[in-house]
Amino acid sequence: MSDLHILHCTAVTVDDALTVIPDAALVASDAHLVYVGPAAGAPAPRPGDEVLDATGLVAIPGLINAHTHLAMTLFRGAADDLPLQTWLAEKIWPVEARITRDDVYWASLLGIAEMLRAGVTTFNDMYWHVEAVADAVRESGIRACLSGVVIGVMPNAEEILTAAIARVRTLQAEGHPRILPAFGPHAPYTVPAPMLRRVIEAAAELGVGIHTHLSETAGEVAACRQEFGTTPIARMAELGLFTVPVTAAHVVHPTAGEIALLAAHDAVVAHCPSSNMKLGSGIAPVSALQDAGVAVALGTDGAGSNNTLDVLREMHMAALLAKVGSDATAVSAPEALRMATRGGAAALRRDDLGVLRVGALADIALLDFTAPHLTPSAGREISHLTYAAHGGDVHTTVVHGQVLMHNRQLRTLDEARIRARVNEAAARLFG
Ligand SMILES: [Zn+2]
Repeated sequence: MSDLHILHCTAVTVDDALTVIPDAALVASDAHLVYVGPAAGAPAPRPGDEVLDATGLVAIPGLINAHTHLAMTLFRGAADDLPLQTWLAEKIWPVEARITRDDVYWASLLGIAEMLRAGVTTFNDMYWHVEAVADAVRESGIRACLSGVVIGVMPNAEEILTAAIARVRTLQAEGHPRILPAFGPHAPYTVPAPMLRRVIEAAAELGVGIHTHLSETAGEVAACRQEFGTTPIARMAELGLFTVPVTAAHVVHPTAGEIALLAAHDAVVAHCPSSNMKLGSGIAPVSALQDAGVAVALGTDGAGSNNTLDVLREMHMAALLAKVGSDATAVSAPEALRMATRGGAAALRRDDLGVLRVGALADIALLDFTAPHLTPSAGREISHLTYAAHGGDVHTTVVHGQVLMHNRQLRTLDEARIRARVNEAAARLFG
């Protein structure tokens, strides 16, 4: 197989020292990086290798969207300006009941096209019809952790759980190099305790993680106190959730004791600043979580509540929102970048993602730093990535050593067809 040589970029490696290498080269062989360093010292390309001249481009580790419901691209712009419970019960669940496997497939491909265009190379998904999402992942070349959804308050809950277990087993047997399986119990308020215990047992038995929503709104916390006399994260701990690897989305209203619980059990929080702002959920205590030692990743949440899947924009939001409480030092530019890369890798329990280093997977985004809004750039790359760049600045996206977008042209996806199919589905579902 031919190697990929990316020459003369500025490499923002996001290693522990946040090393930035001017005039760098990145060389990928198969799926992995085999050289990260000055272009002058790079191995010479061999005949048949793909060589990209990346002069003027800044390379970063592919961004990781640590919490999304990808096929909710169908809901983009269909239900704005509502609080979470009204939004879910009146606008989302009634339509979701009519969504087909085919709808999920096309809506997922749309989300993947959008993310590849924004330099997102991995996503952590929670949605129905996992097989359709998996097909979209296999065909597009992106990387994903697919958890599906388990909701216990539905009449066919038993069937949903059985199917979720079978699906994890099937994905494990397949062993696809770009797909990780997990379980996705939706939230403590939608999955009763006996079913949660069974999901946790299944995750422990099969050796996979759990992706869930925790402590998203003050209303959720109040209802949990009233019904169970405790708070959602503490209750989940009592049910044994943290005996398996957990990535918890939102975590907007944890108590101090719950933050300590998350830290003690190495749970990872997927912070979703845009979604939390839009649904009026509040400001997650990111600095307190980090001070306690909790790894924090970034998620866009679904396009119904964001409304884009642009992780660069989420970095910007995370850095600004943390400062609204009046601490301008909270969530610095480097910290926001680390959350979108290394934090995301932590959410998936992978140390070979989210960093440009030899031996890591070759998941890379290259941004065009010749744009006026990214100038002057020398020595200011990390600031620009958080405060000035957006997904549209991404020029080239590489996943698993494969160039999936170059010069803003997607190589594996037929965008016109995808858009047409999603528009058709939206017309049918929303009238
Ligand atoms: Zn969510």
